[in-house]
Amino acid sequence: MMKNVIVGDKSGFCFGVKRAVDLVIKCQQEKGKRIYTLGPLIHNNDVINYLKERDIYPIEIHELDRLNAEDVVVIRSHGVSLEILEKLKKMGLEVIDATCPYVGSIQKRVEEYFNRGYNIIIVGDKNHPEVQGINGWCENSALVAKDETDISSSISKKVCVVSQTTEKEKNWQNVLNSIIKYSKEIVAFNTICSATEVRQKCAEELSKKVDAMIVIGGRHSSNTTKLYEICIKNCHNTIHIEKAEEIPTEILENEDIVNVGITAGASTPDWIIEAVINKIK
Ligand code: SF4
Repeated sequence: MMKNVIVGDKSGFCFGVKRAVDLVIKCQQEKGKRIYTLGPLIHNNDVINYLKERDIYPIEIHELDRLNAEDVVVIRSHGVSLEILEKLKKMGLEVIDATCPYVGSIQKRVEEYFNRGYNIIIVGDKNHPEVQGINGWCENSALVAKDETDISSSISKKVCVVSQTTEKEKNWQNVLNSIIKYSKEIVAFNTICSATEVRQKCAEELSKKVDAMIVIGGRHSSNTTKLYEICIKNCHNTIHIEKAEEIPTEILENEDIVNVGITAGASTPDWIIEAVINKIK
């Protein structure tokens, strides 16, 4: 039986990721030499391989010593700490900053309010590079709260709160409600990126209407994992895949599954979404 495929609005590359990928490709074409990205540009192995074919390679911070002055390093959309930015410049490397402007604006606010005497709270995952980068704009002094259980009476009375751009709205509200109990002066910037919010809402609505939901994105992509968590609550036939070849035959051959919803994380290129649609159809 032919299946009906519905792709959620705003699936795939967001503005910041598209900008970073376009920038790095343009930079390589202009310079005609190998370009390094500080960490994988995005969490998607196919895209990383696509970039390697174009002489664009990821490099980790601990490997920077392998580079020579005048090599070109691109900062990915997650951004980096002030310390790393200065280190790269001191090494004489040419730095191309592809930090998403939304993330850049969080870094600037954190720096500004930290310098004005506020203690910074970041709602997010302390292991995520974007959060680590933001924390580096307040001398790594921020309290990183994954949820409201990380907030207690010991927090500062004067705080500036921001969120990881991919944070869930509900979690942001819960943490803020706890902060209100203990702090006297609170400056809060809801810095959840609307691209994430819109994508999550579209995926949530779609997952209520379909027989199966396919979430496409890298295994290590936090925004893809969050999409999966949202969809599985409404549709127990939700799967998380990286590419079309991973769609289980139980979904393809199950005649009870007619309407299939698709959503994709911010690092998933259009060509992978197309391949999944074609395979299902
Ligand atoms: S999710 Fe939003 S903040 Fe993050 S890179 Fe994309 S556009 Fe920028």
